[in-house]
Amino acid sequence: MAEYDYDLFVIGAGSGGVRAARTAAATGARVAIAEDRYLGGTCVNVGCVPKKLYSYAAHFHEAFEDSAGFGWTLPEAPRFDWATLRDNKIEEIKRLNGIYGRLLENANVRLINGRARIVGEHSVEVNGETIQAEKILVAVGGWPWVPDFPGNEYALNSNQVFDLDTFPKRFLVLGGGYIAVEFASIFNGLGSESHLIYRGELFLRGFDHEVREFTRDEMAKKGVNLHFETTIESIEKLDDGLKVMLTNGETLEVDAVLAATGRRPHLEGLGLDQFDIALNPNGTLKVNDLYETSVPSILALGDVTGGPELTPVALAEAMHMVQQHFSDIPARPLNYQNIATAVFCHPNIGTVGLSEEEARAQYDAVRIYTADFRPMKHTLSGSDERCLMKLIVDDVSDRVLGAHMVGEEAGEVIQGIAIAVRAGLTKADFDATVGIHPTGAEEFVTMRTPSRT
Ligand code: NDP
Repeated sequence: MAEYDYDLFVIGAGSGGVRAARTAAATGARVAIAEDRYLGGTCVNVGCVPKKLYSYAAHFHEAFEDSAGFGWTLPEAPRFDWATLRDNKIEEIKRLNGIYGRLLENANVRLINGRARIVGEHSVEVNGETIQAEKILVAVGGWPWVPDFPGNEYALNSNQVFDLDTFPKRFLVLGGGYIAVEFASIFNGLGSESHLIYRGELFLRGFDHEVREFTRDEMAKKGVNLHFETTIESIEKLDDGLKVMLTNGETLEVDAVLAATGRRPHLEGLGLDQFDIALNPNGTLKVNDLYETSVPSILALGDVTGGPELTPVALAEAMHMVQQHFSDIPARPLNYQNIATAVFCHPNIGTVGLSEEEARAQYDAVRIYTADFRPMKHTLSGSDERCLMKLIVDDVSDRVLGAHMVGEEAGEVIQGIAIAVRAGLTKADFDATVGIHPTGAEEFVTMRTPSRT
């Protein structure tokens, strides 16, 4: 007779939690999962999925303009209807929520709608029921964080920006990370006057410097108003909008302000305080290679552990965790190097591996190959959008250490290149690869002369 009600109790049905629950159940483990909000977590409901749908919507703006050079005349000037986009998005997310529910049901995972609280090393309380589990997995993700300033109650966070009642004709975003550049681009593309306010000299800290500069120039060319080295001092409500005072003395009047200033672990009310559990300096849960917290029966993965806050990372962690705890085949620790990522600003950024700055700091000699060109499509469209591709190579081993792109569908292109970088292929391997013509991506295998060393 088993001592516990479940082998695994998962708290949080986001990307990581659902993947962990399903994969563990497939090994024969008895699994329950608790969720007090929506199935699918941030990614499905207020993150990757709706953001990408809105990014598609915003790209049509340029597509309509570009089409004229190819002979198209539109019967009338295109008009954008926010309510149609928003409501179609809501329907699609409902469909995905349903799929997540069915995935759990078909995997024989018990879904409990409620906020779970950990009441012992093996006990959880949810909706008044106390459940014993051999292992408890905390996969509660993060929550948007807004800095303190007068009037910050008028700022939206990234959970709230998707379902606005009215379309903001004048939009302002505070921050210089993924969400800030993506939403500044999206609302600009949808037709808003769009402003991005970033406290530092140049946004996207941590990305390759040349990529950041190139993105700045391209976003500015598309009409996003970039305000660097300043931040919001205060926001005042007006009858017809918001008055935003910046620390550089400037004042802007807008209809909506989004604070895209990072996310914090969503640990309130979980009951972890009773264990004096070990935390990382940024307040996320500290885990070992087995995703165990300092209380070994309590596991954690995904955004709440402070690794790269990316859905595919949470999914990979979930599968690793299950292999380590619920299978006989030992798993090596997950390799966090060379994780590719895309930023869906316009144009998109795709990146894998080291930036030029990181490579120069870690290697004695590097070769940098760059291509900065006007994509073929724009020879007829008349658009002045350019594309940047960049390879960073270790001069001694010839290994490609990093690949970066700013341009249309950069994420799609870099996904393939990421396999090569992850496999440790050399520049000679790239050179020996016959290109696909005519594509932009062929530049990645035709850059022969270093731009600098
Ligand atoms: P990020 O951590 O990426 O960026 C936060 C930004 O806010 C930084 O530019 C930071 O500036 C700035 N900031 C922080 N504190 C303050 C403050 N007090 N005043 C003014 N500015 C401040 O967070 P995001 O909210 O953009 O996104 C959260 C995470 O979600 C991302 O890191 C990413 O991992 C994930 N995500 C991934 C996406 C994708 O894969 N495409 C899309 C969206 C999100 P500074 O740089 O100076 O510290």
